[in-house]
Amino acid sequence: MISASISLESRFVGAYLGLAIGDALGASVEFMTPNEICHQFGVHQKIIGGGWLNLKAGQVTDDTTMALALGGAILKDADVNAFSIADAFSQWLRNKPVDVGNTVRRGIVHYRNSGQPVSPENEYNAGNGACMRCLPIALHTFGQAREDVQMASRLQAHITHHNKVSDAGTECIIFLAQMALQGATKPQMLAGPVAELLLSYPCYVFRDKKCDNPSAYIVDTLRAVFQSIFDTDDFETCLIDVVNRGGDADTTGAIAGMLAGSLYGVEAIPAVWLKSLNSDVRAACEYQAREFYARYCNARSEANGT
Ligand code: MG
Ligand code: MG
Repeated sequence: MISASISLESRFVGAYLGLAIGDALGASVEFMTPNEICHQFGVHQKIIGGGWLNLKAGQVTDDTTMALALGGAILKDADVNAFSIADAFSQWLRNKPVDVGNTVRRGIVHYRNSGQPVSPENEYNAGNGACMRCLPIALHTFGQAREDVQMASRLQAHITHHNKVSDAGTECIIFLAQMALQGATKPQMLAGPVAELLLSYPCYVFRDKKCDNPSAYIVDTLRAVFQSIFDTDDFETCLIDVVNRGGDADTTGAIAGMLAGSLYGVEAIPAVWLKSLNSDVRAACEYQAREFYARYCNARSEANGT
């Protein structure tokens, strides 16, 4: 159930923590099949680390740390500046992150070599790497005109992923997050951004069969996320459902987590998951979420002349 009593601030913070929790939860089973997960865990539902990256319990991966790098650059500039964001991504890579996608690495190296924060358009760059980190764009452009949201999304996305299918999926997730922040219902979300995406890109149709073992191809990733978001009714069930599909589970967890956090608010996140999350990551997510929220409130009161 979506309650109108969930505050906007709770949804902002829930979105950021949801992203990190989905990443941390899913990372333990990334690249496993549902059968392998079932054999090892029964149902995987604890933040325990491990996985192919051999993480500590509560540690997150590139999905969360790139979102924090993006968020930090936007907050520093109070703007979406592709050069600042590319610098932040370059610094992120220099800090030796636990995991780096191939397209992300190529895009950052392209920026270092060319000085241009736009990768060449490429029909094969339809991985989920631009989408997994998009939450700061959704929060920064919350309440802005659709064209401005779209432009901001592409500025950050094209640093590494310059691809129309990736753009469409990423923008759909941003619009869905923004609708959820506003308290929209799931039927409204399906009739809006999802219907629009399926009309232009029928490859995203997600009702034919259960999407298990989703790959890092953005279409596979988002089909799994859509099924989990729209077929469950609370944060915990949604995240358990999506990560137990296996495949790119940290990223489906991260994207489903940001949407579920926007929908259900921070109060809906199980306390045991919040406690398990790395405390520095938790603090960084809460800080950025509250900053974006405060700036949104300031911009709105300035616009209202109050
Ligand atoms: Mg990852
Ligand atoms: Mg992943």
